[in-house]
Amino acid sequence: MSTIRVDVSRCTLCGECVAACPFDAVEIVQGALHFTEACRLCRICIRRCPQEALALEERPREHTERGTYRDVLIFAEQHEGHVHPVTYELIGKGLELARELGQKLHVVLIGSGVRVQADHLLAYGPATVYVFDHPDLRWFRIEPYTRAVVRVAQEIRPNIMLLGATPIGRSLAPRIAARLGTGLTADCTSLSVKPNGDLVQTRPAFGGNVMAQIVTPGHRPQMATIRYKVMAPARPVQAAPGRVVELLCDEDLLRTDIEVLGFTPYELDRGIEEADVIVAAGRGIGRAEGLALIGQLAELLGGAVGVTRPLVEQGWADHRQQVGMSGRTVRPRLYIACGISGAVQHVAGMRGAEHIVAINTDPEAPIFDVAHLGLVGDLYEIVPKLIDDLKEGAALHGLP
Ligand SMILES: Cc1cc2nc3c(=O)[nH]c(=O)nc-3n(C[C@H](O)[C@H](O)[C@H](O)COP(=O)(O)OP(=O)(O)OC[C@H]3O[C@@H](n4cnc5c(N)ncnc54)[C@H](O)[C@@H]3O)c2cc1C
Repeated sequence: MSTIRVDVSRCTLCGECVAACPFDAVEIVQGALHFTEACRLCRICIRRCPQEALALEERPREHTERGTYRDVLIFAEQHEGHVHPVTYELIGKGLELARELGQKLHVVLIGSGVRVQADHLLAYGPATVYVFDHPDLRWFRIEPYTRAVVRVAQEIRPNIMLLGATPIGRSLAPRIAARLGTGLTADCTSLSVKPNGDLVQTRPAFGGNVMAQIVTPGHRPQMATIRYKVMAPARPVQAAPGRVVELLCDEDLLRTDIEVLGFTPYELDRGIEEADVIVAAGRGIGRAEGLALIGQLAELLGGAVGVTRPLVEQGWADHRQQVGMSGRTVRPRLYIACGISGAVQHVAGMRGAEHIVAINTDPEAPIFDVAHLGLVGDLYEIVPKLIDDLKEGAALHGLP
């Protein structure tokens, strides 16, 4: 890593660099200049120093021996025996990447009494499920969990390592990356591999205005966290030849400064990500009251209401309902887009839906490019008809 070098024979402690630093990262401590962790190496202090006492010291990067790393390792997240659904998505993607590279997929699972879950995960096709099973691992605690994953990674030296971009995955991944001395791409929405084994990690950047493709050519493992619901989940395979390997939970692994005093379940906001059906409203609804009509259709279909960003900006809907690049990514069985033009930022969050129906007055609207079924017309004519038909159908079948 690069640092700022201070030539103490020139530095007069004039304080110019302290005043110039936009990150408040320079301090004078006990008669010496000190650069804190906030330093971004922006070099403003170097330019401002009247004595030219500061310089950037570039240290050559140590590259890992790529050839000695192979296979894909994923972290299987579980809580109280419930495996987080993002795990199946990671397994699905991990298997695909491993297959392309002619390598294997391994899973690491940590918890208390999780042997059953390990056997269950094996059915999805990984070569190995490594298990750390101990009562002290019942709750997620960052130090032992980090040590456990790092142990497996140091042992098998994976080429690629994936975690869910969940609150747990997001806190665990940077620690693991730091311990392993490698990079990390957070919040990926897409992954692919080059024939040379480099992982192409795609994620939105600059507020979603560009999709950045990031590679980690000099370091291994290549680590990424993956957004929930952007990858297709794995399905159980016919013959699962893998094995479960139980690993030792010794004192050193379990050491922690965190004491869990109790656990109060958080009222989970299941959100629109969990809905099988989403009826989404765009600016085409024209007025806030239009959302009631959309809500009526969603309710009849047992679904949730989604919206485009302008509706959140207008204050008509909650940001948790926003679908898209800067909102939620959804993968329902049915997505009905009402009065939505189909801007790339919106489509990025819903194109994974199994069936997309679009209602729009403009036959040229880009939403029709991704829709499986398009209805050209006024949503205020079409949606009430759909509602009437659904009610009629329900009455015919004696449904409530
Ligand atoms: C960095 C960035 C991030 C963004 N993130 C998101 C995001 O996460 N999610 C998101 O949604 N947007 C996002 N946006 C905004 C995005 O670019 C679009 O502006 C937005 O999606 C457009 O919303 P809309 O389709 O509701 O509105 P419009 O583009 O205005 O489309 C309205 C549509 O309704 C149709 N219409 C009008 N009246 C009727 C009617 N009576 N019946 C049927 N159809 C009708 C029109 O023909 C038109 O196609 C982002 C933008 C930026 C710059």
